[in-house]
Amino acid sequence: MNKPAGSPEEFDAVVVGAGFSGLYMLYRLRQLGLSVKAFDSADDVGGTWYWNRYPGARCDIPTTDYTYSFDPELEKVWTWSEKYATQPEILDYLRFVADRYGLRADIEFSTSVTSARWDEQEKRWSIATDRGTQLRCRYYIMASGCLSMPKSLDIKGTDRFAGKVYFTSGWPHEDVDFTGQRVAVIGTGSSGIQSIPLIARQASQLTVFQRTPNFSVPAHNGPAPADRLAWLARDREEYRDAARWSRGGMPVELTDVLGVTASETVARERFEDAWKQGQLFAILGVFADQGVNPASNMIVGDMIREKIRSVVHDPQTADALCPKDHYFGTKRPCLDSGYFETYNLPHVRLVDLHKQPIMSITEDGIDTADESFGFDAIVYATGFDAMTGALAAVNATGRDGLALTEKWAAGPSTYLGLMTTGFPNFFMITGPGSPSVLSNMAVSIEQHVDWVADCLRDMGAEGFETIEPTPVAEAGWDQHVRDCGAITLHPTANSWYMGANVPGKPRVFLPYIGGVDAYRQACDDVVAQDYLGFRRTGPGGERCHDGVIRRMQPDVSLVLQVMATMGLPPMETLSADDARAMMALAAAARPPSPEVGEVTDGVMPGPAGDLPYRLYRPATAGPHPVVVYFHGGGWVLGDLDSDDPLCRDLCVRSDTVIVSVNYRHAPEARFPAAAEDAYAALRWTAAHAGELGGIPGQIAVAGWSAGGNIAAVACQLARDAGGPPVSGQLLLTPVTDSDMTRPSYDENGDGYVLTTPLMHWFWDYYADPADRGDPRAAPLRGNLEGLPPACIVTADFDPLRDDGLAYADALEAAGTQVRRVRARGHTHTSVTMVGVVISGAPVRAEIAEALRDFFPSRTSLGNPLE
Ligand SMILES: Cc1cc2nc3c(=O)[nH]c(=O)nc-3n(C[C@H](O)[C@H](O)[C@H](O)COP(=O)(O)OP(=O)(O)OC[C@H]3O[C@@H](n4cnc5c(N)ncnc54)[C@H](O)[C@@H]3O)c2cc1C
Repeated sequence: MNKPAGSPEEFDAVVVGAGFSGLYMLYRLRQLGLSVKAFDSADDVGGTWYWNRYPGARCDIPTTDYTYSFDPELEKVWTWSEKYATQPEILDYLRFVADRYGLRADIEFSTSVTSARWDEQEKRWSIATDRGTQLRCRYYIMASGCLSMPKSLDIKGTDRFAGKVYFTSGWPHEDVDFTGQRVAVIGTGSSGIQSIPLIARQASQLTVFQRTPNFSVPAHNGPAPADRLAWLARDREEYRDAARWSRGGMPVELTDVLGVTASETVARERFEDAWKQGQLFAILGVFADQGVNPASNMIVGDMIREKIRSVVHDPQTADALCPKDHYFGTKRPCLDSGYFETYNLPHVRLVDLHKQPIMSITEDGIDTADESFGFDAIVYATGFDAMTGALAAVNATGRDGLALTEKWAAGPSTYLGLMTTGFPNFFMITGPGSPSVLSNMAVSIEQHVDWVADCLRDMGAEGFETIEPTPVAEAGWDQHVRDCGAITLHPTANSWYMGANVPGKPRVFLPYIGGVDAYRQACDDVVAQDYLGFRRTGPGGERCHDGVIRRMQPDVSLVLQVMATMGLPPMETLSADDARAMMALAAAARPPSPEVGEVTDGVMPGPAGDLPYRLYRPATAGPHPVVVYFHGGGWVLGDLDSDDPLCRDLCVRSDTVIVSVNYRHAPEARFPAAAEDAYAALRWTAAHAGELGGIPGQIAVAGWSAGGNIAAVACQLARDAGGPPVSGQLLLTPVTDSDMTRPSYDENGDGYVLTTPLMHWFWDYYADPADRGDPRAAPLRGNLEGLPPACIVTADFDPLRDDGLAYADALEAAGTQVRRVRARGHTHTSVTMVGVVISGAPVRAEIAEALRDFFPSRTSLGNPLE
């Protein structure tokens, strides 16, 4: 590069880090013909595997998978010696890679990047190092590692100790010999668990200080698994592709067995098989629901605790080693070789810091609340400031002097974990908001590096000089990352995934848990949609196709995917009876519904005969307000069973008696039968509220879909007939009009279960075209004065979304109080899928709150299901 004398050296790109990420990034950028400078604070390549040289350090993803895959020739010339390679072997591998591709020439070692500043005028980053190097580059790429910034010690007196001090994350290069020494290990995360058995072999006394016990599974190390080797030998590319499109970055068969429904025999067999495999993804995948369902998770957790107790002889020590404060998998589980067995050795002792916390490190040891210990050496295995630590350590300022640490003060915010708004041309390899530490990182790193390299290639080809995500895209991705985390058990744990191990760090679930496959698809989709959500600029102008790449709740999209694989016929191609039979089959396969105090079936008189009803009574002392509920199903389908889980859920959450009414259906009884039945049911229930265990005068109506339609109509009829008085109307994604030209019919009319053709089918069965403008069919067209307060729920991916919104607008215009609940990322049906779609629970909690608010004289009970 030409540079005027005295000015900083110029590069196309600066890469920070020379581990797995930095090395491959350098390789790809060079392939593009870009000038690149890489830095690492270490004096050699390797990253994680350079620093973490503690005894027992190994990978915990099998080496068949924890390896580069970008060059088939590299795979031919390198053979791993065992299933889980040791640190020296992995370091040798990375050195081998650096040499093979001549990468060292562009890496400056023993040099830390200390600051990076974006110059908007020049469209360049100014980079400074601790060696005083100043340079400028167009692209600033942090390949600085998720687990590369050791956590600062938060123990008193650490500088007082006169003996030897070691950190697992910065182990000396020369051999450390603990023979005959009294050694303390503080910390029982992965590094502690890997090193403790080996330190115990040398030390004369080993004392382990444990803050939180961790789940650990025997690694059963040995030769690489024969089945994987055979697959790789047969078709390497197929294997690698399967890994790239897998959930965790390694081909693993996923189960659909649920812990909550599995028999004890099946559960035990599945667990023992996973235990034998000694493989993280196996033990994390015993059941399909163990990551989201506490009961299912407990089955696995209990079996691991049973294993720990069967190994550790001293019951008190065994008990202290059993994790009880977090669900299995919500902290990174460990793979070990003889960890729990180590505690049976006479010279090894466990100190439970919950019982006797460390007061201070002293000159010759450690003082806890109860004892003084003398040591010759202390080993800190205290973990990392994960995912954001290394990124924040560089003083990075983006446009308008915005500091990255300031922008991320409440937690990181990224688009795809790759970039962040306000910091043009700044890329992160496996940044927060990407699968990173939840995956086989070799696969995730290659995917990120490839994405960045391809992006720079495309920018070059199209004449762009800068790229940056838009605020809309970034906010959308952050939301999606949060949504994915929220349906899992992860947020319940004080883990480093949550930033909870570092005092003062915002409590945010940092990685993306939607899966390597889903993530790769999202990244590919962004590119396919002309870099959706990125603003690119160049001398020729700017281009930006703004938008959000994933708006649907992750569990809703999973349900849709499963349904798509079932090959069900579209309902509108069936007869009403066949459609009803299909609904009944689906209902039979549902998971158990919430328990309520009492459920009784009965009949009430209707205009044309008895109407069956089902009454749900809360377990709390009555009397309760009463909600008359009408099920969904387009006036054609549905019955007391179809909406049973929703009614139970509403009953428990809102602490009201729910009277679910089976009104007459079309085509047997067409319009206005359903509407008339709804009003009759309201009248009868109001008249008999006391007998039903309700509070007379405290009656609301509720309904979902077509049930919402007749609930709204019942309110209008009650007003016109002078009663009964209704305290409120809960309309859950209701049909309020027969006009199907509103935009939501276009936007969401296909692919989200309730389709536009299906709505036509419903209307055709229910009402003659001439009747469809009647307010008893289309309540939006009625007189909306003097109606009870409403709660109207609309879902983003629902053809009826605009029906609900139009009714809310119209009611408000007529002076009615309306509470709008937006089921963000949901379809017409998903909020009602109790026990299946977890992300529906907060929406139902809000609905229940609205129901309770209809009856202000009742005291608020909170949400009993939360
Ligand atoms: C003990 C241990 C075991 C692990 N085992 C596995 C495993 O089995 N499977 C798996 O998938 N993952 C594992 N991981 C995660 C591991 O970090 C990744 O697999 C992978 O090595 C990360 O590579 P990287 O290049 O992104 O980051 P790193 O390997 O962390 O490299 C980042 C480099 O950047 C340098 N750096 C950071 N900031 C600066 C700066 N400002 N200036 C200069 N240099 C800087 C650091 O010195 C470091 O060398 C493990 C992590 C640890 C700590």
